[in-house]
Amino acid sequence: MSITDLTIVLLSLGSALYLLILGVILKRRSIREGIVSLLILYITAYFLWVLGQGLLRLELTASGIDELLPRLLLYGLLLLSLLFFQLNWSFLRWQGHLWAVWTGSVLWLAFVVTLNENWLGLPDPLWVGQGLTVHRAAASFSVAVIGWAGLMGMVTVQTIMSYYRTHEPLHRNRLTSWSIVLGLTTVGGALFLADYPILGDGFYLIGILIALYVVLVYRLPDVRQMARRSLSYVISTFLAVGIYTVGILLTQYAFQSVPGYSPYLAGATMALILVILFAPLQGVVQRFINRLISGASYDSSRTLREYSIGISNILDLDRLATIALGLISEALEIRRGTLFLVNYEEEEEDEGETIGYFYLRSLKGMGDQLPPGVLAADSPVAVYLAAENRPLTQYDIDLLPRFRDIFPEERTWLTSLRMAVYVPIYAHGEWIGLLALGSKLSGDRYFDNDLTLLSTLAGQTAVALENARLFNDLKIRNIEIEKLNQELTEVNQELARLDQAKSDFIGVASHELRTPLTHVRGYNDILRDMLEAGPLPPNNGLEMVNAVKKGVDRLERIVNTMLDVSQIDTKTLDLRASPTSLAPIISQIVEETYAEALIERNLTLTTEGLADLPAIVADDERLEQLFSHLIQNGIKYTPDGGQIQIAGYLREGGMLPPHPMVEIVIKDSGIGIAPDDLERIFEKFYRVGEAKLHSTGSTKFKGAGPGLGLTIARGIVEAHGGRIWAESPGYDEESCPGTTFHLLLPVQLSRLEVAGSDIFAAEPSLA
Ligand code: ADP
Repeated sequence: MSITDLTIVLLSLGSALYLLILGVILKRRSIREGIVSLLILYITAYFLWVLGQGLLRLELTASGIDELLPRLLLYGLLLLSLLFFQLNWSFLRWQGHLWAVWTGSVLWLAFVVTLNENWLGLPDPLWVGQGLTVHRAAASFSVAVIGWAGLMGMVTVQTIMSYYRTHEPLHRNRLTSWSIVLGLTTVGGALFLADYPILGDGFYLIGILIALYVVLVYRLPDVRQMARRSLSYVISTFLAVGIYTVGILLTQYAFQSVPGYSPYLAGATMALILVILFAPLQGVVQRFINRLISGASYDSSRTLREYSIGISNILDLDRLATIALGLISEALEIRRGTLFLVNYEEEEEDEGETIGYFYLRSLKGMGDQLPPGVLAADSPVAVYLAAENRPLTQYDIDLLPRFRDIFPEERTWLTSLRMAVYVPIYAHGEWIGLLALGSKLSGDRYFDNDLTLLSTLAGQTAVALENARLFNDLKIRNIEIEKLNQELTEVNQELARLDQAKSDFIGVASHELRTPLTHVRGYNDILRDMLEAGPLPPNNGLEMVNAVKKGVDRLERIVNTMLDVSQIDTKTLDLRASPTSLAPIISQIVEETYAEALIERNLTLTTEGLADLPAIVADDERLEQLFSHLIQNGIKYTPDGGQIQIAGYLREGGMLPPHPMVEIVIKDSGIGIAPDDLERIFEKFYRVGEAKLHSTGSTKFKGAGPGLGLTIARGIVEAHGGRIWAESPGYDEESCPGTTFHLLLPVQLSRLEVAGSDIFAAEPSLA
């Protein structure tokens, strides 16, 4: 057969192979998948490239092309390498600036072609000097080789990086298989460039066939396992040969002188012995190598026995998870793992449809608890785990087409767990738990016998898990009941407190109302007696009427106070807000209402910084009521000769309070307040000490009131969106440590909207 005939036969065979490959690809996978169409493109390019080489060899082409063809083939190789680069990118699912590589590559290709075809009309040689002559063809070839080497280098680096990024043995195995493709393709390209095109084609072709296998087949043979098997085979063979040789030599030496000794018989006997021994020998070597390399070997029946004993009678979920995972990790030598509790719940979506979700909560197994996850009932992963009583590997989730459409959040969550295998647990046909296990320490994958063992263990776990769950539910119920009980007790206490408040109210009201009423009635009686006795002297009459009016005024004040409290209670306190300056309000109160009392009681009242404060948006009447009461308290609880200071500050910015506020500080040198009472004084009817021990009168030292003043003060401040609190070193009538009231009022009205809310629940840091 001539070279021509051989080439024709080879080309026909090549075409048939090409069509066969296309058929295989399209039968197994859809062309719509990115990597599949890329693979077809790559194979087609390869086919055309080989076809071109065939044509060159046949010298069939027209004379013009004849000359161009060798150069075209070089460009073909470069293009093929670029396609391989793209294929590698998709295979690794590499993330990065693909466009940058492509732009660089296209520029490089253009440069090579321009130089090679001499489109710029450069002289040849390009450069002569210092004993060196650079020819155009050599220069362009060098640029082509350097670019090609750069591309292949990039591909190699990406593959190695991907290998080290994943810790999952199945993924690593896939990458190991891919590295064979990479090696063959690189060698093939190098051979072509070194002018061994046929050999190069061969390497390329084998690379393509393996690439096809790696891309199309999910369950690749385990490269490590294969290497281990081959190693043990080689060792056993050498051992056998060694044993045979030593045996023959020994028998020869020992039986040489025995009559009837035949070397053939001795050889045959040794061979028989070895044939019988070879299989067990290989087994021993294989186990030895396995132990040496992966270090893992376990006895499944013992593991099962220990497991079922270990986890029975455990009612605590976390303990169950710890023990179960401990036993599994001991047998399989794994680093990480957890047990998820699975709860199914249905939720109503719009249009009245209900959609089911599986909620997965990790128990404290090995190491930290993992984040909880949710799988929609119709998600492929949930469908698999809920129905198919088989373990699922992360590798399957990453690569199998049936899991391609899982929700991105589910995929992210699963990936974040960094687990290698998931083993579902069922009770009464319902999916209730999930064992999730990380990679083995040895770096081995989970083999079929491991998965079978895990399924059996999961089955064993079901009863224990179900019991522990029920027990846990019971515990939670118990805690809930306890909480409800606690709440009930609190509500009861609150009721009792309210009841007490009601009695206090009646007590205080009758006490407070009786005094002015007695007054009114007394004067009224006198007035009537006097009128019955004869005409009334005008002076006396006026005196009587004024006295009655005073009593009625006091009655009115008391009734108003009570009305205010009830409005504050029901959060219906009305504010008529307008820009208001505090300084005039305070000075007016001091001058008009308390000037006399201050002189009478020999008290000094000073103010500071009030005039500098900005106007605030507030209800001026309510503010009057507020300050009047606080000043009155200062007067009442400060012994004669004491001092009262009122100071104002502007509090700007800061985190707390977030808006400008004015702070008013009212400080007296009075009897002070015990720490326990600092909050209570703001409660309704709360008065420190016994009511009957207080003297009566609104400005007398320790003059009694109904215990509602501070309640109303706080109500007014809070309705403005502010805050009020008291500070005092303690209560002492001898040393008089004094009391300081702090008030924060917002400058802007917007705070009114949040009046009564607990926006200031945190203690301001200004105090
Ligand atoms: P009252 O109408 O009795 O004054 P308040 O609500 O104004 O009621 O005050 C409640 C209690 O707080 C008072 O009985 C008093 O014991 C205490 N208190 C209020 N202000 C002061 C103060 N400046 N110094 C000491 N104790 C005070």
